[in-house]
Amino acid sequence: MSDPIMIERENPARPLEIVGAVPITSPEAVDKVVVAADTAQQEWSDVSLASRCEILTTAAVALNSERIEEIAEVLARELGKPLPDSRGEVGFAAVFLKHCIATAPQVLVEDVVDDDAGRLIFRHVPYGVVAAISPWNAPVILSMLKIAPALVAGNAVVVKPSPYAPLAITDVIVTLAAGLPAGLLQIIHGGPETGEALISHPLVRKVAFTGGNVVAKAIGAAAAKVITPTVMELGGNDAAIFLDDAVLNDAAFDRIVTASYATSGQVCMASKRIYIPRERHDEFVAGFIEACARMVRLGDPLVEGVTVGPVVTRAAQERLEKLVADSVESGGAVLDVGTVDDSAAGDGYFVRPQLVVGLADNAQLVAEEQFGPLVPVMAYDDVDEVVARANAGELGLGASVWSADEDRAFQIAARLEAGFVFINTHNRTGMSMRAPFGGVKKSGFGREYGDEGILEYVQTCVTHAPALFRAGADPEATSRASRAYPGQ
Ligand code: NAD
Repeated sequence: MSDPIMIERENPARPLEIVGAVPITSPEAVDKVVVAADTAQQEWSDVSLASRCEILTTAAVALNSERIEEIAEVLARELGKPLPDSRGEVGFAAVFLKHCIATAPQVLVEDVVDDDAGRLIFRHVPYGVVAAISPWNAPVILSMLKIAPALVAGNAVVVKPSPYAPLAITDVIVTLAAGLPAGLLQIIHGGPETGEALISHPLVRKVAFTGGNVVAKAIGAAAAKVITPTVMELGGNDAAIFLDDAVLNDAAFDRIVTASYATSGQVCMASKRIYIPRERHDEFVAGFIEACARMVRLGDPLVEGVTVGPVVTRAAQERLEKLVADSVESGGAVLDVGTVDDSAAGDGYFVRPQLVVGLADNAQLVAEEQFGPLVPVMAYDDVDEVVARANAGELGLGASVWSADEDRAFQIAARLEAGFVFINTHNRTGMSMRAPFGGVKKSGFGREYGDEGILEYVQTCVTHAPALFRAGADPEATSRASRAYPGQ
């Protein structure tokens, strides 16, 4: 047998350094993986929910603080995500797994109705093998959002992460899988060819995808060919709307700055365009720049004090440089923000965090998802206008409304076309494990987090015994009902 072709992942802060490598899974090998997953799943779905929770709890012990620390360092080096954020992501994945284990027994409870009309049993039946296809920007948590609910619900999971961040998630899966039945949780590697072999496999019963809208179309088409359902978490172009009474203190600026630049702005639910009342525009820009001076430091993700690392690839860096040039051509004033550490001096894929003012909504930086550390701030004159501007476009992932009056903020939030609206915050500081997250319009369908995020991995299957057809029922009524529609 020939040696597998390897995917090498470089450190985006120091591209000559190879952080690690993973073998590309050939389409033939994908078949073996899925068949093993299917075999494991059949036994796993026969295990009671309580026992599944126990087994997962024991397996999760291996994801202890020491292991989290080791994996976080790998994540920081392969992705450029600053170490505290990498630690946060891996630690949160462990917390989320425990959360799913704790909530599943209430969410997946079997409902029974037994009354004069008959007996109905509603069972939550797992799909079978779930294909989890995740992006590079938060490879550990975005995979765990699929792994944890799918496993607890009785499915097997095959993860295919992005070739741009395959290492930390491999470590997480190897760590967890050691405590699970063989084949139940597996990882494969590669690009579109491997991904499509997985999606098209006849034993894959559900595809869970997080990524961009272009790839979503290819995945949707491949899944449709084999009539496999999908859940899709796609891109966003989140508007952050500050109302005239918004509290603009240091803590508020700290939150909006984190929401904009964490992971170098490469977050689906980052605040990607900021709207501020015209009369408070200059005050906002000054406060934002001041907060960046405190909080934004560009550099090597392993250097203490660095809060913004490089972007993922040279191609991403070049795309963002063009976006800056386009913003200038479109009449925007581009302002550098934050500070730069010496470690950002080399040939890493660093992009200077910037704020852009004076752009119209049709400028590329405002109209499209930038996925980088560039944030446009626009003035508005009235609330109806800003709601219309926030709702323009095809994406509807997140949004935020900032106001001292929470009720007023909720009223405006209800008018926004977004799957999740944050009040007085945005991005990760506003997430809740009990709240379903996902997009409207072209930002996707299906949900992660919350009870819905678990129910995404089961189908409701029903057993029904109508009372009318029970032995001993009134023969005349039975005879009439034998030909009628229910309830008539
Ligand atoms: P991507 O769409 O390029 O890739 C995502 C995954 O799909 C990768 O694993 C990739 O290898 C795989 N893939 C590519 N082509 C495929 C094919 N033909 N068949 C099967 N798999 C294939 O996304 P990305 O660049 O890794 O991530 C960035 C995008 O993800 C952004 O648009 C971002 O907004 C979005 N995102 C959304 C959420 C959310 O929860 N809504 C979260 C994070 C990121």
